[in-house]
Amino acid sequence: MEKELKIPLSSPDITGKEIDAVVRVLQTPHLSLGPKLREFEEAFAGYLGVEHAVAVSSGTAALHLAVKSLGIGEKDAVITTPFSFISSANCILFERALPIFVDIEPVTYNIAPERVEEFLGTECATEWGTGRVLHRKSGRQVKAILAVHVFGHPCDMERLAAIAAKYRLHIIEDACEAIGAECQGKKAGSVGEIGIFAFYPNKQMTTGEGGMLVTRDPGVALLCRSLRNQGRDAGGGWLAHRWLGYNYRLSDLNCALGIAQLSRIEEILRKRDMVARLYNSLLDGLVAVPATVPGAVRSWFVYVVALKGSPEPDREWVLKELTRRGIGCSNYFPPIHLQPFYQQSFGYRPGDFPITEGIARRTVALPLHNRLTADEVRRVVETLREVLAKSPARPEERKAVPGDWGLRRAPLQRTGGA
Ligand SMILES: *Cc1c(COP(=O)(O)O)cnc(C)c1O
Repeated sequence: MEKELKIPLSSPDITGKEIDAVVRVLQTPHLSLGPKLREFEEAFAGYLGVEHAVAVSSGTAALHLAVKSLGIGEKDAVITTPFSFISSANCILFERALPIFVDIEPVTYNIAPERVEEFLGTECATEWGTGRVLHRKSGRQVKAILAVHVFGHPCDMERLAAIAAKYRLHIIEDACEAIGAECQGKKAGSVGEIGIFAFYPNKQMTTGEGGMLVTRDPGVALLCRSLRNQGRDAGGGWLAHRWLGYNYRLSDLNCALGIAQLSRIEEILRKRDMVARLYNSLLDGLVAVPATVPGAVRSWFVYVVALKGSPEPDREWVLKELTRRGIGCSNYFPPIHLQPFYQQSFGYRPGDFPITEGIARRTVALPLHNRLTADEVRRVVETLREVLAKSPARPEERKAVPGDWGLRRAPLQRTGGA
């Protein structure tokens, strides 16, 4: 029997340049806290056009340091999206603050600025004299908006920044999926106080594991450099620990890999863009293809389509069948508030964020990486076409909100324990 060729969902793009760069570090004694760390940070800050970049061991570590360095703690709350990778909400819990979810826009899948504004206007009170924004239900102070540029589509940062300015909130941008994306001419991750990037192998560029925190604030940068390195003080000794810190360092091997990847970033992003454009042209009509709003430049992290049709295809069956036929695929993203830990801790239930849930139950991520050939893209599309033609309808019982995904007015947000 002919062996079925598999097309993976993602694949890193590693060339001889990356391999040589890592090997050269191995030939030196500087495997950590060496010259490649500074070089990677400076190159990254330059690429983004920000003053400071702090390299850390993962995107999640960078998110944690962002929350911590802004002084967000157990009496505070942070507004964020339920449609994301889990760590954009977990990082708020790491500091015992409360994540408050606000539902998303049906087109970009990003947090909806008008819902953020409505939440602040109706569910919060601005304390006279101090200007603190208090969330009535939990009694906590709302300190920040943590916006995620999901699937590489930038959030409307102009609107979010205006809201943040009005209520004097911090903005953290989770740009882990959006390196190179632009909103209103500004690079994603460079608008808020802090921007976060991640370099796991399925991201646009990789360091194996790794993350980056960028900021214009020298105080935040200094604090994060100390926190990633066990709370050591600049100028203090190896065993002088000023703060409760962590080992969130990124080794010089990872940094050398990152420098080489970053030097090829335009080429990497261009190749991904070509794959996505080919998908768009071949899939339009069959499924809902990803939309990019005017004024936005998308950076392609994953290529996510939404199933459509009446009756609606059974997404779980489609995923299983694509996998069986050798096509890498995934259910990006199950809503964060419906993850078992969040349901148990905060009492969330299906129906709490109907737009997020309606989208999350229809989305399918298809293979997107730089090694994909046009023929492979065509094969993915043809396989999807065949699978959809055979798909049973989505079983009734999975429809938490039958037939009206995103159309019914969603409750603004739900918060869990105070
Ligand atoms: C990948 C990702 C992260 C975290 O990255 P890690 O490096 O895996 O910790 C955070 N947020 C989003 C939206 C991501 O896609």
